[in-house]
Amino acid sequence: MPSSFPLLGIDIGGTKIAVCLADSSGKILGNERIIGGSQTRYEETLPRMVELAHKLVADAGLAMADIRACGVTSPGPVDLAKGVIIRSPNMPWRNVALRDDLARELKRPVFFDNDANAGMLAEWVFGAAKGAQNALYVTLSTGIGGGVVTEGRILHGVNGNAGEIGHVVLDINGPKCGCGMSGCWEAYCGGLNVMKRMQAQFGGNPDHPVMRLPEVGGAPEKLGYPALIPAAKAGIPEAVAMWDEICLRTAQGLGVMIMTYNPEVIVLGTVALHAGDFLLNPVRELLPRFAWSESSRPCRITTSALGLHIGELAGPAVALNGLNL
Ligand SMILES: [Zn+2]
Repeated sequence: MPSSFPLLGIDIGGTKIAVCLADSSGKILGNERIIGGSQTRYEETLPRMVELAHKLVADAGLAMADIRACGVTSPGPVDLAKGVIIRSPNMPWRNVALRDDLARELKRPVFFDNDANAGMLAEWVFGAAKGAQNALYVTLSTGIGGGVVTEGRILHGVNGNAGEIGHVVLDINGPKCGCGMSGCWEAYCGGLNVMKRMQAQFGGNPDHPVMRLPEVGGAPEKLGYPALIPAAKAGIPEAVAMWDEICLRTAQGLGVMIMTYNPEVIVLGTVALHAGDFLLNPVRELLPRFAWSESSRPCRITTSALGLHIGELAGPAVALNGLNL
């Protein structure tokens, strides 16, 4: 690894755009957000991203020419080869050539990846999977996304959809998933689906102990993982049953991945970060039902080392990976 040098990252989210200046060791030098940027027209937002990138670089006492590369991340589906965001359910942008537009405006090399792969890259380059040749990243968030590093390379697949871990079907008779299939891991364990299931079960009963938790305060819209974790820890039977199923389905999903990729480390983000061993311990205990011990024993299952900074460091990680250093 050469001595440290600066990189830019631009993370396109459903409700905000984060622009980050970091160095190649993962130190964040500057970070700003455009709130609602991806909700407005692309033609208006592109110049704002470019302006913010220039501001961060100038504030750090650097020139744009000092920036070795910029990494851009976006929710899928994307066309990785063309550097195009095809569409996103949460954004009005359609078929925008973000990578080439930014490269032209910034006059720097720009690399592009979807946000789940970018999370994998951030943990691989800067975080808990550093140095691993075979690694997985799984984010248990509103949905479930993930990325795969195999034999020292991020796996993209034929059109960039490799690592769509959340949509592995765990039960053909399982609940309907937002993607159109049924019984996906995300249908069981995605945050949005957990919230809907809790609302159906508890929302109409304001006297239920789950509804009376301080995290909920009688408001059905506050149901979801932030309420389920304390409810299960408090031993409320219906919440314990729900949590047990989430642990079981998570072990099943990870078992599929362990048997497919034989990773040395699996990094779990978001909900796993909040739940910690309350999730990891039962998952480890359940794994022998879904993976050979020869494969699961050498696999370390851990939580994200970057935590809340993963979004900021995802873009710089994509840039560094693109430079292939
Ligand atoms: Zn699905």
